[in-house]
Amino acid sequence: MTRTTEQWQQLDASHHLHPFSNLKEMRESAKTRVIKKAEGVYIYDSDNNKILDAMSGLWCVNMGYGEEHIIERAHAQMHELPYYNSFFGTTHPPAVELTALLAEVAPAHMNQAFFTSGGSEANDTVVRMVRHYWATLGQAGKSIVISRENAYHGSTMAGASLGGMSFMHAQGGLPIPDIVHIDQPYAFNECVKAGTEIDRAAFGLKAARALEEKIDELGEERVAAFIAEPIQGAGGVIIPPETYWPEIQRICNERNILLVVDEVICGFGRTGEWFGSAYYGIKPDLMPIAKGMSSGYLPIGGVMVADRVAEVLMQEDVEFAHGFTYSGHPVCAAAAIANIQLMQSKGIIERVRNVTGPYLAKKWQTLAEHPLVGEARTLGALGALEIVADKQSYKRFEDSDAVTTLCRTFCFENGLVMRAVTDKMIIAPPLIISEVEIDELVEKAWRCLDLTAKAIA
Ligand SMILES: *Cc1c(COP(=O)(O)O)cnc(C)c1O
Repeated sequence: MTRTTEQWQQLDASHHLHPFSNLKEMRESAKTRVIKKAEGVYIYDSDNNKILDAMSGLWCVNMGYGEEHIIERAHAQMHELPYYNSFFGTTHPPAVELTALLAEVAPAHMNQAFFTSGGSEANDTVVRMVRHYWATLGQAGKSIVISRENAYHGSTMAGASLGGMSFMHAQGGLPIPDIVHIDQPYAFNECVKAGTEIDRAAFGLKAARALEEKIDELGEERVAAFIAEPIQGAGGVIIPPETYWPEIQRICNERNILLVVDEVICGFGRTGEWFGSAYYGIKPDLMPIAKGMSSGYLPIGGVMVADRVAEVLMQEDVEFAHGFTYSGHPVCAAAAIANIQLMQSKGIIERVRNVTGPYLAKKWQTLAEHPLVGEARTLGALGALEIVADKQSYKRFEDSDAVTTLCRTFCFENGLVMRAVTDKMIIAPPLIISEVEIDELVEKAWRCLDLTAKAIA
């Protein structure tokens, strides 16, 4: 379709209600960026500006844009069998092959997958599955799921309820019953509160023990599960202190509650392991997956289930009354298979662990020298900059949101996608990013920080 950028913007403003957007402002400004094509780590807008996509779309295009292998497999599957379901005792080769492949790359004790169309549906599935699990064991009272402040687990009713974002809860009467939240392991924020560096290892333990305290308060016989992202993504790439996860694992084991590790972002290579759980040595009972599973080429997600949980679900002669028309969609499954096989054949996990991750860490650290940056942190192919008004005293800007939004705009205008999250700038580039492209990313980030500093001076 050939229209001018302005025509697309006008049509978009007239008809398109965007997700997570200020609808009034979008309608009035009619200035949406129109992204028209992409290749490798670059996207191109409708005026043919080339932009380095340091967010992999929305944390999903792990293998980069334009991968023929994925495109061809999906195309061929369209011809062979564009759709069939997996209800009522049927299945199809792509869904079967994908479950087997997932069992191969997932932790050894996880060999079953339930399919969804994305991460939110995966987390809705989690809520129903953990409650059904305990009910099957005769402990229906164990229905509370404990989550964390500032977590992101999707935007459906259960997903947003599990999430810890109060601005989301405020719309639509959330959370749903029996979901509670504890504090997040956000060390830099503790530094901000204290106005100085803190003992991060001690804070990691304290943040984990908030789970134990919450279980005590609610009663173990009421708690079904704890859910957390290995590294909080949308919350601002919150990398927990190393002491955090081992303590969480101990508590879940001792207290007999299920551990749900939301791998929607950390899964499929982001941390330099197949899953964030492997990076932190966590043993999940359930693992929601999506995003990088198909590198975003087609929508697919799921829940990986540990053997001991799957056994209970298979114990009774009753139906698990849950599922989606597109659970295991054959074309989406074919794209996911092609994507995972490509990750294997390219050795991308090892590359993130041994080359990309360490190189990004070293380069990203140079941004800590910038006057606006209070901390520059990375893990694998994830990174964040804490934007501060004063580095020494860890002081934030009065209106951090305005500063980071401005920075994001400068980035877009200068050929870089970085995401702004309140007082942070964050990245999650495609895993296939090269060293030269990392250099470009960091140079552009520095330049845009400079432009931001100048604009607010
Ligand atoms: C994006 C995300 C989700 C939601 O996935 P959708 O595919 O957008 O529904 C869930 N959990 C985490 C950790 C995410 O980052």
